[in-house]
Amino acid sequence: MERNYRLLWERGELARRREQAFRHLEHCRLCGQGCGVNRLGGEVGICRSDARLLVSSCGPHFGEEPPLVGRRGSGTVFFARCNLRCVFCQNWDISHQDRGFETTPEELAGMTLALQERGCHNINLVSPSHYVPQILAALEIACGEGLKVPLVYNCGGYESLTALGLLDGIIDIYMPQ
Ligand code: SF4
Repeated sequence: MERNYRLLWERGELARRREQAFRHLEHCRLCGQGCGVNRLGGEVGICRSDARLLVSSCGPHFGEEPPLVGRRGSGTVFFARCNLRCVFCQNWDISHQDRGFETTPEELAGMTLALQERGCHNINLVSPSHYVPQILAALEIACGEGLKVPLVYNCGGYESLTALGLLDGIIDIYMPQ
């Protein structure tokens, strides 16, 4: 069975969503914080992110819920920074101290394809909310290279209707926590 996000890619809908998503960065209300800053112009909101994408790490992860882990792991991508400011965050160094490296959509696409190649059962996007445009750009590239495993949106749950609309039909599993 073909993934729905692949069907949207084939129809050009993924490209349309990506364009729309990047336009939102000019007056960012991509998450529930609704900062309204111009991230394309270099401003940052509560997530402290301009238009650049920061990835902290990626790899097979065996600490997720068993149905996601299976035998070969969940293909996890940990994004740096976060749209929440929880004082109890277990990933403090990543979310509050920005531990990550600047990554292009092409590089992110390569990471997802490498995880699929290693046999991971899904691509697990951790703290993705402030990077929806960049994720859509990467997904578009990865689709062209054969990405086909399910997508997990592993977020803090403070999403906007705008972002959920952009992701509608693309994400296979939402995991707000
Ligand atoms: S993603 Fe959320 S926290 Fe970041 S600038 Fe946009 S509205 Fe603000």
